[in-house]
Amino acid sequence: MIWLISACLLGCPCRYDGRSKPIPEDIRARLEKDILIPVCPECLGGLPTPRIPAERCSSRVLNREGRDVTEEYERGAREVLRLARLYNADGVILRDRSPSCGTCGVYDGSFSGKLRDGMGVTAEMLLCEGIAIFDEHGEPPTR
Ligand code: SF4
Repeated sequence: MIWLISACLLGCPCRYDGRSKPIPEDIRARLEKDILIPVCPECLGGLPTPRIPAERCSSRVLNREGRDVTEEYERGAREVLRLARLYNADGVILRDRSPSCGTCGVYDGSFSGKLRDGMGVTAEMLLCEGIAIFDEHGEPPTR
């Protein structure tokens, strides 16, 4: 099978803080025979690494300094969608809680560590376009 996967889950240091968030070994082992294509929508949207953290605030994405980065997030989401179609991927595995990749929850926009129901910009666009998405534990979105 062919999967696009959040690059930070494969150890790429592309998170806002310049670090990665590798998936647990047992999950990685389950994907051993599959083709994994790493993508980071925030990088594909033109944002630097490291970068100022951002959160979804209603229909926009704002960084902690108040800059509106919605356009970069949407550009990255479109790129991931394009790549999923280009590679005819079976689905996309995404890192939960991210304002781009979150599938079952995101931070609430207050930059206080509180979560709310909702999805990241990329996860939402992929789901709307009929692409199968899963979190890093292999679970589909709850909504
Ligand atoms: Fe990982 Fe997605 Fe954040 Fe990129 S945008 S660092 S792939 S969670």
